[in-house]
Amino acid sequence: MSFEALGLHASIVKAVTDAGYTVPTPVQEQAVPAAISGRDLLVSSQTGSGKTAAFMLPALHKFAVAEQSQASKNAAQEAQNARARGERPRFKAAQPKMLVLTPTRELALQVTSATEKYGTQIRRIKAVSILGGMPYPKQMQLLARNPEILVATPGRLIDHMESGKIDFSELEILVLDEADRMLDMGFIDDIEKIIAATPANRQTMLFSATLDGMVGNMARRITTDPMIIQIAGSASKHENIVQRVHFVDDLSHKNRLLDHLLRDETLDQAVVFTATKRDADTIADRLNIAGFSAAALHGDMHQGARNRTLDGLRRGQVRVLVATDVAARGIDVPNITHVFNYDLPKFPEDYVHRIGRTGRAGRNGLAISLVNHAEGMNVKRIERFTKQLIPVNVIEGFEPKKTASAPRSAARPGTWKPGDNRGGAKPGQRTFSKPGAAPRKEGATGGGYKGSNPRPASERTRSSYGDR
Ligand code: ADP
Ligand code: MG
Repeated sequence: MSFEALGLHASIVKAVTDAGYTVPTPVQEQAVPAAISGRDLLVSSQTGSGKTAAFMLPALHKFAVAEQSQASKNAAQEAQNARARGERPRFKAAQPKMLVLTPTRELALQVTSATEKYGTQIRRIKAVSILGGMPYPKQMQLLARNPEILVATPGRLIDHMESGKIDFSELEILVLDEADRMLDMGFIDDIEKIIAATPANRQTMLFSATLDGMVGNMARRITTDPMIIQIAGSASKHENIVQRVHFVDDLSHKNRLLDHLLRDETLDQAVVFTATKRDADTIADRLNIAGFSAAALHGDMHQGARNRTLDGLRRGQVRVLVATDVAARGIDVPNITHVFNYDLPKFPEDYVHRIGRTGRAGRNGLAISLVNHAEGMNVKRIERFTKQLIPVNVIEGFEPKKTASAPRSAARPGTWKPGDNRGGAKPGQRTFSKPGAAPRKEGATGGGYKGSNPRPASERTRSSYGDR
C-alpha cells in the first residue's frame, strides 16, 4: 500500500515522501481513506504508530483540494484586489477550519510542527499552537493571522473563546488527540464547552489508547456513525486484563488444569484458543462430555454453523468457546471473563488479539496461558512484544514438576527484559512493517522463561512485579 493509493493529493504524497516515509503505517492505511470520505473516526492505536499523520494528512488533503477550487481562487483574487485598493481586512476573530485538541503543550507543538512538515507543499495553510504558558500578545498575533488550523490545549483555548478571539462557526474538522489523557487530566468540562461551540456537521476524529469507559462514552456522544479503528500492538496494554502463565508438564496435566480453571466461580463465559482446527473440535467435545456447554469455532465450519455458534455465545447458551485465531478475531461479547491459551499463538500480535476477547466494554478479564516448559521462549517473545511481564502462577494440587528447574536465559545486551524498557523501540525510531512480518524473524535468544524462577509460588504473583 502506498500513500498515493490512499487517495491523497499529490502535494501531500510529495511532502511525506520528502519526510522519508515510504509506506503508510497500519493506522494511516485505515484512517486516511475513511477520513477523506468524510467519516467520523474513533481510533485506538499504540504510541508511535503514526496517528498524527493519520488525521493530518486527510485534513491537509481537503485543504489542498479546496485550494484548487474556483471559489478559493476567486476569494484569493478578491483579497488581493482589496489590498491593492489599500483596504486592510479588520481582524475580529480567528475562524479556523480545523481544531486539534491535545492534552499537553509539548504534544500541541509536535502536532503543529508535523503539520508544517506534511503541509509544506500547500501554500495557503497556516497552523498555529495556542497553549498555556505562552504570552497573550504573542497568541493574539498568531490568531490575527487567521490560521486555518489551530492546535490547542483545552484550558487556554477556552480563555480565547471567552474573550471573543476565536469563532468556530466555520470549523470543519475537530480532532481530539490522546483523548483519554485529556480526560485523565480533568479537561472534560472544557472539552464539552469547546465542542458545544463548534458546528454540529463537523467531522470529528478521536484518538485514544482505549475506547472503553469514560472516553468511550464521550466518543460516542460527540461523533456520528463513526468508523472504529482499533490497531492492536505493543501498547495495547489491556490494563483491565490480568494475565497469567501456568506451566504444565504434559497434555494430561494441561487438560486437568483447564478443567479446574473453567470451574472458577468468577467465570461467566470463556474462550479457549487452540493451535489447530482439529484440537478445537476435540477439546470442545471433551469439555461437553465433562459437562461444560462448549462449542468449537474455526475456519473449516460452514458460515451457517459459525453464525449459530456465535449466536449461542452471545445469548449465553455457549459458555466455553473453543476457537482458532482467525475465527475468533473481532468477537465482542461482554460476558467473556476468561481467555485461555490452550496453545500459545504463533505470533505475538495474535496473543494481543486473543486476550482482547475478554475485558470488553471496560470490564475486567483474566487471560491464562497454559505453557509447556519448552515453550518458555515463546512467552518471552510475547512479553517483549507487549512490554509487559506475564506473572507465573501455580495452583495448589496442580503444581508442575519441572517449573523450578526450567533453564534460565543468559541476558543478552540490547534485548528487552522484564523490568527494563530501554531496549524497546522508541516512538520515532520504529520501522514500520506489515503486521505479522517482524516477529517471525525473531530467533532463539536461548534459554527459558524469566518468570520461572525458583522463588516460592506464593511470591510469584502479579504484585511481586511491583511497578509494572
Ligand atoms: P503517535 O501519535 O501514534 O504516537 P506520531 O504521529 O507521533 O505517532 O508518529 C511517530 C513517529 O513516526 C514520528 O516520528 C513520525 O514522523 C513517524 N512516522 C509517522 N508515519 C510514518 C510513516 N508512514 N513512515 C515512517 N515514519 C512515520
Ligand atoms: Mg500522537
